[in-house]
Amino acid sequence: MHELGIAESALQIALDRAKTEGASRVLRMVIRVGALSGVDPEALRFAFTVILPGTAADGADLQIDPVVALAHCPDCRKDFVPDTNHFFECPVCGRLCATVKQGRELDLVHLELI
Ligand SMILES: [Zn+2]
Repeated sequence: MHELGIAESALQIALDRAKTEGASRVLRMVIRVGALSGVDPEALRFAFTVILPGTAADGADLQIDPVVALAHCPDCRKDFVPDTNHFFECPVCGRLCATVKQGRELDLVHLELI
């Protein structure tokens, strides 16, 4: 379960920021998780429930925003939601090498400290 390591990294970032800003607690964290990031949002949420107790982020409101995958076909110039995580086949022309526009995000995008 690599979500545990990811949760630990995010927590470390939050705690470092709190320390830098002289905050005593982390109130809220918002994390964007792309459908192609390889991270399961539910497993990530669970990982936080394991590691937060006893830290300055204990009881923090955790918001996990899933980001749908979106690919772009250079031939049709259209965006589409890919069927699978491995092949980005354009539903219009069948081109396989469409580019990924979004879905690989794994970011701590918002932090509230007090
Ligand atoms: Zn196409």
